[in-house]
Amino acid sequence: MNDDHETGNDPEDTAGPHEYGFETRTIHAGARPDPVTGARNTPIYQTTSYVFDDVDHAADLFNLQTFGFIYTRIGNPTVAVLEERIANLEGGRAGVCAASGHAAQFLTFFTLLEPGDEFIASRNLYGGSITQFGLSFKRLGWTCHFVDPADPENFRRALTPKCKAIFLEVLANPGGVIVDLEPVIDIAREAGIPVIVDNTMATPYLCRPFDWGADIILHSTTKFLSGHGTAMGGALVESGQFDWGQNDKFPSMTEPEPAYHGLTFHETFGDFGFATKARAVALRDFGPAMAPVNAFFTLTGLETLHLRMERHVANAQAVAEFLDRHPKVAWVSYAGLKSNPYYDLARKYLPKGAGSVFTFGLKGGFDAGVKLVESVNLLSHLANVGDTRSLIIHPASTTHRQLTEEQQVNAGAGPDVVRLSIGLENIDDIIFDLEQSLAGL
Ligand SMILES: *Cc1c(COP(=O)(O)O)cnc(C)c1O
Repeated sequence: MNDDHETGNDPEDTAGPHEYGFETRTIHAGARPDPVTGARNTPIYQTTSYVFDDVDHAADLFNLQTFGFIYTRIGNPTVAVLEERIANLEGGRAGVCAASGHAAQFLTFFTLLEPGDEFIASRNLYGGSITQFGLSFKRLGWTCHFVDPADPENFRRALTPKCKAIFLEVLANPGGVIVDLEPVIDIAREAGIPVIVDNTMATPYLCRPFDWGADIILHSTTKFLSGHGTAMGGALVESGQFDWGQNDKFPSMTEPEPAYHGLTFHETFGDFGFATKARAVALRDFGPAMAPVNAFFTLTGLETLHLRMERHVANAQAVAEFLDRHPKVAWVSYAGLKSNPYYDLARKYLPKGAGSVFTFGLKGGFDAGVKLVESVNLLSHLANVGDTRSLIIHPASTTHRQLTEEQQVNAGAGPDVVRLSIGLENIDDIIFDLEQSLAGL
């Protein structure tokens, strides 16, 4: 176990009576100079295991009666700094990192659901999440109902007695859709179930889901948090506000855990019970731990999150305006454009900008999309987002190709759609590359 509960977001601990700003916390939260060597940067604790003081200490660790490290599958000091930093930036109570974003999603749902349970998800999600929820989770006995998030009431309509959570991306990848989070949270409150927000595309710099009442935040740290396209990773963060004991829907949180002498995670760990259970059971038993070196890369990237997001957003806005005027472009779906139907929601939930990942449609359809991604020079044709480099992809021929055309269109990834993730290069160079490539269509 790491010592989240002792060094979490306690203002005494990091800021005293003065509350440090976001920019300061991206650099400092969760980290201290190494007490033994004085190393200022967080070292890579490249170790699998940790020496016990004695047998009693070992027993206390295994029984979750004290906090400390046992084995890197369950916790590691470098990873723990990242967990605390992400939890801090989101304004949450505790976090758990995982090997990838999808691993963090698995840990979350394994902690929430029993076989036969159901949940509701926005249909505007990262393509891999649609596949994970719709196909692989199905085989574990978990059913996901996908709904069109444009009308929040669709979430209420899809509720069943077995639904245990609502999952959405406020700023959705790749459609550029903004989900109106507040009414969805009201619906979940009434139903006594948590709202899980995948905040990968927005990052805590642009969007603050816990401020609106979300209960769990998920990240693929592979994207903007790490930011340089060097390290895979994921994270879950709990707000600490959800009452798992309010109904009988969450036996995994409220009933005695046989693997830990019958302790009850909700009762024993209170506002960090969910993260503790995700670590002590799901991460322990399935093992998708984040590598310490990946935590190190991600911490290094995080230090500049605020500066990078500012430039990502400024460059994306300029590219969106350029494309919006271009004769070969049929439409641009960027919520930072005044003409976009999500402009007002973006102002509400993403006041610092609508992110840097968005889609546009080519009048030339599927073939033009393929030609465009093959003719760019500066932009990289690849399946990632949130890199310092500008990236381009034609989802219908790549990330979303395993979906039916109807699913592609529903997810905002129809045949004519091109997705951009605008990076940090000189804006004139990004636009020059797109201009040249569009001219060749
Ligand atoms: C990439 C991504 C994921 C999956 O994360 P991995 O780190 O690739 O496993 C989940 N959600 C969103 C929004 C993503 O962009």
